[in-house]
Formats: sequence, C-alpha cells, structure tokens
Amino acid sequence: MGEIKKRLNLLVQIFLAVLFCLINVVAVVSMLHMQGNARVVNYTGIVRGATQRLVKQEINGRANDDLIRYLDGILTELTTGEGENVLNVIPDAAYQDLMEQMRKSWGEMKDAIMDVRQGADPGRLFDMSESYFELANQAVSASERYSESRVTNTIGTLVCMDAGFILLFVLLGVNRRRRTRVQLALESAQQASRAKSSFLSQISHEIRTPMNGIIGMTAIARKYVDEPEKLTDCLDKIDLSSGYLLSLLNDVLDMSRIESGKIRLEHKPFDLKEVFERISIMFRQKAEDSGVRLEILYGGLTATAVVGDNLRLSQILVNLVSNALKFTQAGGSVTLEARQTALSESRVELEFVVTDTGIGISETFQAHIFDPFEQEREGTARQYGGTGLGLAISSNFVKMMGGDISVSSRLGEGSRFIVHLSLERTAPEALLQAEKVAEGMMNAQEASADRFKDMLILLAEDNEINAEIVAALLDDRGVRVEWAGDGKAAVEMFTASPEDTYSLILMDIQMPVMGGLEASQAIRALNRGDARSVPIIGLSANAFQEDIDKALQSGMSGYLAKPIVPELLYATLSEAVA
Ligand code: ADP
Repeated sequence: MGEIKKRLNLLVQIFLAVLFCLINVVAVVSMLHMQGNARVVNYTGIVRGATQRLVKQEINGRANDDLIRYLDGILTELTTGEGENVLNVIPDAAYQDLMEQMRKSWGEMKDAIMDVRQGADPGRLFDMSESYFELANQAVSASERYSESRVTNTIGTLVCMDAGFILLFVLLGVNRRRRTRVQLALESAQQASRAKSSFLSQISHEIRTPMNGIIGMTAIARKYVDEPEKLTDCLDKIDLSSGYLLSLLNDVLDMSRIESGKIRLEHKPFDLKEVFERISIMFRQKAEDSGVRLEILYGGLTATAVVGDNLRLSQILVNLVSNALKFTQAGGSVTLEARQTALSESRVELEFVVTDTGIGISETFQAHIFDPFEQEREGTARQYGGTGLGLAISSNFVKMMGGDISVSSRLGEGSRFIVHLSLERTAPEALLQAEKVAEGMMNAQEASADRFKDMLILLAEDNEINAEIVAALLDDRGVRVEWAGDGKAAVEMFTASPEDTYSLILMDIQMPVMGGLEASQAIRALNRGDARSVPIIGLSANAFQEDIDKALQSGMSGYLAKPIVPELLYATLSEAVA
C-alpha cells in the first residue's frame, strides 16, 4: 500500500515537472508566433504605404523598378512564405483571400504603370491604386484581427495550464501535509505503545525485586520459627521490602495521576518552617548513620506563613534530600538551603537549593534526569534502591505550582538541584486557625476511637487473607466484623439484617459473583431506612483517580486504597461515623 502511494506520488511529481516544461515551451512558441504575426501585420502595412508611394512617383514620371521588385517579393512571401524576410504565412482564410485579390490587382496595376510610362492617362492608375489601398487596408485589419485572436488564445491556454499546475501543486502540498500529520500521529501512537511496554517491563522488574525479598525471607523465616532473633531479622527484611513495594506503588500512582491531569494541588495556609523541621526530623538519623553532614538552613526566611500544598512541597524537598543522601558517601555533606529572593505584600519568591558532595551526575544523564524511570546506571536500583520516578514526580509538582527545577552537577564532584517557587503569603493568624482545625479533627478522632467498641461492620471481601487482616485491625479497636465473601452475599446479609445493624460497610471493589460497585448500588436502592445512610467505604488495590470516581458514583461514601494503612483505616472509620 505504502509502495503504491510512493509510486503515485512520484508519478504526480513527474507529471508536474512535465507540465511545467510544457507551459514554458508553449509560452516560448507562442511568443515566437506572436512576434511573427506582428511582422506580417507590419509588412502588410508596408505594402499598403509603399504601393501608394510608387503610384505617386510613377504618375509624376519617376519610374521606380526597384520598389516594384521589392513589392513583388513581399506579396509573394506573404502568401507563400518564400522570401528573404522570413515571414509567416498567416493561416487565416479571410486574410489569404484578400492577399489573393491584392496579388491580382497588383498585376493589373503593374500593367497600368507600364501604360503610364508609355504616356497613357494616369487617371486609371490612380483609380486602381485607390481600390488597391482599400484592399490593403482590409488585409492589415484582417492580419491584426488574426494576431489579436492568437494572443487571446495563447493567454487562455497559458492561464488554463498555469491554473492546472497551481491546483496540482496545492493538492500535492495538502496531501503531503495530511500524510505528514498521519505519519506524526502514527509515530506518536507507536511511541506511546513503546513507552507503555517499557513501563510495564520496568514496573514488573521493579516489583519483582522486593517480591523476591518478601518470598525468600518468608521461606527462610519458616525455618527459624523457633529462633526468635533470626525470625525477627527476617520479618524486618520483609518489612523493608514491603515498604519499598508500597513506595513504588505510591510513586506509580502519583505518576499516573499526574499524567492523567487528575492531581489537584491543595491551597491551604501552612508554615514553611514546619516543612523544614519535618525534613530535619526525617533525615537526621539517616544522615548520622551514613556519616554524612546534613545542614538545613532556612533562617533567612522572614515570610514563612504561605498558602499552597504543604505535602507536595515536602514531597519535592524530601525527594531531593533523600537522593542527595543516597548518592553521597560517608564524610560528605548535604545542604538544603531556602532563600527568599523577592518579597511583596502578597507573594514571596523562594529558592530551594539542595547541594551534595556525592557521586555527581554526568552531563548526558542530566538531559533526561527528570524523565520517568531514568536512572544513571544499570545497577543504581540494586545498589541504592529507588525507582527513577522521584524526580519525574517532583519536577511535575514544581511545574504544577508554577515554578521551575534545574540541576547542575559534575561526575565525582557532587550535585546541586535548584527549585524556584512563588508562593502566596498569608497572615500568621491564618496558620493558628488551620492548626486549631487540625487539632479539633485529631481530638474528634481520638474521642470517636472509643465509639468503635459498639460498632458492627459488614466486610465484603473475597480474599480470605485480606479479610483476616482487616478483621484483625478492626478487632484491635474492639470492632466486630461480619464477613461476606462477595457482593451478592453482602447485599443479602444487609437485606436480612434489622435496620441499623451495621454501622458501616467495607466493600472490596473486584469480587466474584457481584462486584463492589454493583453491590453498593443494590444496597443504596433498597427500600429501608438505613439503605441511603449507611456509610459504604470502598476497599481496592485499584487506587487510581478514575476508580475512586467510579466508587463515589456508585453510591460509596469513601475509598481506601490497599494495602490498608491502619491509621488511615481508623481515621476513615471515625470520619464516616462521626
Ligand atoms: P530514584 O532516586 O528513585 O532512582 P529519582 O528520579 O529521584 O529516582 O532519581 C533518578 C536518578 O537520578 C537516580 O537514580 C540517580 O541516578 C540520579 N540522581 C538523582 N539525584 C542525584 C544526586 N543527588 N546525585 C547523583 N545522582 C542523582
């Protein structure tokens, strides 16, 4: 198919080139013709004038044989094309007819001239010359008409050919542009498909590493059930691998939500100081353990009460500091410095600089360091851990906040990451307000923890292990749980129970027989007092925004992503039953 199109395209191009040459040939030939026709008009005019002159001379007794021979020659040439003036023969019947009459009349006139020379009355010659003049006049007009009609025809032909040429040229251009567009779309689809495949193979590789750890350590742990120390060591390693797996999933989730444009940034008052204090607490021990000097400098900030997304900003800086520590050997140093570069009444321009004296980054890698899944060396993940998603996520968050992020580094000499952000300022009182609200929520949560004791929860979950984990977590807080193995069983249990039996329903999304979304809709549609009011919390490993949206649309009141984080489960419970 592509080959045929290519050939067709070549043919059209050849046709265009031939048409272009043809237009030029027609133009040149036509010009030569027009020039020839103009000469015929001119010479016919000469015949008319020269004959008049000859007649006058002859009548006045001055014989001019040269002129007679000259006129003989021209008349012959105008009708036969043979002669020394290289004149065209005009293929026009009216003109040729007139020329025939002129030739005849010229023959008679030449006889009359001879008679005049012999002493005859010149009156006859004069009369003949008058009617000859009239004939010549008509011949000049006929040649002019012919010449003009040729010019008009030529212009028409050239205009048509030019229009055809331009039309074909435009069509070819449009076609080429359309083909380029189709080509680009195809390439971008292929690129997307390649990116997807590489994403899948990368992610399965990333998952396999900690999974190996978990499976291997579980097998080892089984051997040491009677040796608590070794068992604890195995459990610690399982914990480490699980933690890594979870952070990988969270990163992938963040990345996916960024790419689908579904992340919304918070716009709340917070204190920048708290961000730095949190980072300092988070990394102090780790830096000490690895023998790296960690400095966090933000003393120069005068406006720390700002509005924005506290957690996302922390995530950006945590990622930069964590990388800096990860890639800096013992004896090195890492600094996070926050500077205020401009301050107005409403905004503060900030510069966050994270500097390390670590292994550095090559110039080649710096060019795509902010792309997803990029790591400088093959063994980076094995040696240092990490997924190559952190900087991609950070740079996206920075962009979403309207700022910019850059890197400068030299291999072996350390790296420096700079983030510029402009944040809205707020009054310090707004922070107090926000703190109070948070405190209030905490108190409410703690107070409601007691209320868990009387609760009965309906748990719809097809996976026994997951059901056991959730039941154990709830049991910790004195919550009773009734378990349904699928959505249909959950709907039946809810229907069979007296009103207000269940304080809440925890509903897995993907289950056999009937899924969680369908089951929620069925429960909400029941004709009983608590059908609309009972909180239904979705539980699912699918934690993408679309899944959350679908869950809420099906009538669920909230959503929890698996693996279940106990604190989040309790917080959601207390919020749902508050
Ligand atoms: P991760 O750290 O999870 O691999 P990132 O996106 O945060 O993912 O970083 C991507 C890669 O960039 C790292 O694997 C490393 O090769 C390089 N890198 C990032 N920060 C530094 C740093 N401070 N020093 C040296 N290399 C770095």
